[in-house]
Amino acid sequence: AFESIQMAPTDPLFGLMAAFRADSSDKKVDLGIGAYRDDNAKPWILPVVKKADEIVRNDPANNNEYLPIAGLASLTSAAAKLVLGGDSSALKEKRVASFQTISGTGACHLGALFFAKFNQRSKTIYVSNPTWANHHQIFQNVGLSIAQYPYFARESCGLDWDGMTSSLRNAEPNSIILLHACAHNPTGVDPTQDQWKEIAAIMKERSLFPFFDVAYQGFASGDLAKDAWAIQYFVEQGFELCIAESFAKNFGLYGQRAGCFHYVAAPSPAAEDLTKRVASQLAILTRSEISNPPIYGAKIAATVLNDPALFEEWKQDLGVMSGRIIAMRKALYEKLVELKTPGTWDHITSQIGMFSFTGLSETQVLKIREEFHIYMTKNGRISMAGLNTKNVDYVAHAFDKIVRE
Ligand code: PMP
Repeated sequence: AFESIQMAPTDPLFGLMAAFRADSSDKKVDLGIGAYRDDNAKPWILPVVKKADEIVRNDPANNNEYLPIAGLASLTSAAAKLVLGGDSSALKEKRVASFQTISGTGACHLGALFFAKFNQRSKTIYVSNPTWANHHQIFQNVGLSIAQYPYFARESCGLDWDGMTSSLRNAEPNSIILLHACAHNPTGVDPTQDQWKEIAAIMKERSLFPFFDVAYQGFASGDLAKDAWAIQYFVEQGFELCIAESFAKNFGLYGQRAGCFHYVAAPSPAAEDLTKRVASQLAILTRSEISNPPIYGAKIAATVLNDPALFEEWKQDLGVMSGRIIAMRKALYEKLVELKTPGTWDHITSQIGMFSFTGLSETQVLKIREEFHIYMTKNGRISMAGLNTKNVDYVAHAFDKIVRE
């Protein structure tokens, strides 16, 4: 049946990770990885996650039974509160349907399936150019067509505001627009709050449907509310919208695959009933794909989210991660300025979250890998989490040398 199947390309990011592992140089630096590392370049289990893990493990009621189809209710309700805000009118009016998913990827996928099957008005989703590479295949795999809105301005390494807004103004009404709620991957460039307001106004005028991907809440700025501001603003503006929420980065629960998909109905007397109908269909989609989601990471996240003392500790841990990353941005920037490296580097500190788009060309990226054993994706994206006090000077010197060549 599969005689003529073609060889698929290897995943670029996982390929990069394999190349890094195979490099025997003691100078090697991994700036490809999309996971937090501590100052010793090691994975970090959040202290609050260690505590919650122990609570879950020692709970006499702990077992490995199936969760309900929609997942762990104590997680999905707390996750909705986290992203929508505790006193969200949408929650009070019971117009939110929440499903636990296989992390953020699964949430994007459930949203994609839901649009493909039930959105009668549009089968087109606009994603930013560039976006997290996986978005393309997640949406294409279910038969949606992808369109792109300009996002990144090469000259300024900032937002292509004119390109983005004119593309939204010209999008077919009812198109789905994928928006990164904070810490845009791969560019690290986010709209300002005033820009978000204008994006919302354009989307309202053009009847565009917002689908928010939030993979870095609290991890970006260290402030949970600030990182969800755009979503909460859109909800206040009365949009019907969807949210894909990941707990991989902000809890360091990468391999546990904890996340949620939320559908929010627009305010109307019929909203509660509509939400119930949506939930009934999401249940069928979930049942046929994964039956029910994984339990352990969900319990850990729920334990933290529902306990006020642990929640406070979590905020401190988020501060440790976001603070270290912001400090590394500053250190890299300052070193490049000190070296008088040609070009402007302000974007390193103005960009936010895990990633920075350096502006290095593909040729420079390959050279820096060969000469300095520094690994980053071909588009010049670096993971700030790969920098630490021991390697940041080395990386700055390498950048300096490469851009002068
Ligand atoms: N969306 C974006 C923008 C991301 O960067 C990521 C993680 N790289 C995800 C979604 C989902 O990741 P996960 O499935 O590990 O939660």
